Amino acid sequence: QKLLGILSSKCPVFMGLLRTVYAKFFFYDPLIRFSPLFLLFINRKAMEINHISILMAMESEASPLIESLNLKKQNSIFRHGIPFEAYQGSFEKLLITLMTSGKDKDYQVDNVATQPATLMAYLAIDQFSPDIIINAGTAGGMAGCGCKIGDVYLSEGEFSYHDRRIPIPAFDQYGVGSYPSFDTSSIATELHLKTGRISTGNSLDYTEKDLEMMKSNKAVIKEMEAAAIAWVCKILDMPMFAIKAITDLFDQEIPTETQFLENLTLASTNLQKSVPRILRTLVR
Ligand code: SAH
Repeated sequence: QKLLGILSSKCPVFMGLLRTVYAKFFFYDPLIRFSPLFLLFINRKAMEINHISILMAMESEASPLIESLNLKKQNSIFRHGIPFEAYQGSFEKLLITLMTSGKDKDYQVDNVATQPATLMAYLAIDQFSPDIIINAGTAGGMAGCGCKIGDVYLSEGEFSYHDRRIPIPAFDQYGVGSYPSFDTSSIATELHLKTGRISTGNSLDYTEKDLEMMKSNKAVIKEMEAAAIAWVCKILDMPMFAIKAITDLFDQEIPTETQFLENLTLASTNLQKSVPRILRTLVR
């Protein structure tokens, strides 16, 4: 790490070039992605993070965090009609831009799920050019895989969908998708957080087929935005990972919506406690 630090300060152009080449592999070549030298190089010293964009679907998930990070609402950022809200502030040496997806004008509920998430991710990258994107929010967890209500998970491996069924050769795999997460293993080890694969769909509940797909995605977490954001980040070469607090155990008897409403405050509070600790690990 010391040597990489010296090289970065003495020959920044060469190191920048090397980093760009590595970043390409980071996204697409699992062999290189998991090599110890590479993890050391890309995740810590070499990848300088100054500006982080945190994307969140629901106001109630985001409010405790906005308050504790003392972020200020930014007005007139997006063109007329865009419902998203943006908050900004500094945390340690970082600039933080947090976006929520705002309310639907007709239904007066939060703009959850993949449609707004995709647009929000694009606008975050286009307007703010962050160094990394974090999708923070709540999720359902599989009790059978050890998930507990209130747990905070970091994304692992790839994000996929469990409800995009297109049974035509090649389109079937396109439907499921595979969009990489920034490697969170060192953060998880340092902060004693759990990691798991995340599967995304556009429904709070699920069908038998969805469950089958989640299992084949090896997912332990189910939610409604991450894969959409990860797709935008993949095509625009933007590192991205997710932080999800568990509101419900979807492989249990009690209906998901009952569990969700009961545990939303606990999960949002746990997010508010964990996110600053996670941000701190990215500063160094
Ligand atoms: N009735 C809720 C609806 C929230 S939709 C309300 O009070 O408005 C669910 C949100 O929580 C989505 O943003 C989704 O990403 C997340 N979520 C939590 N648990 C989930 C689960 N089991 N399945 C899918 N999404 C879940």
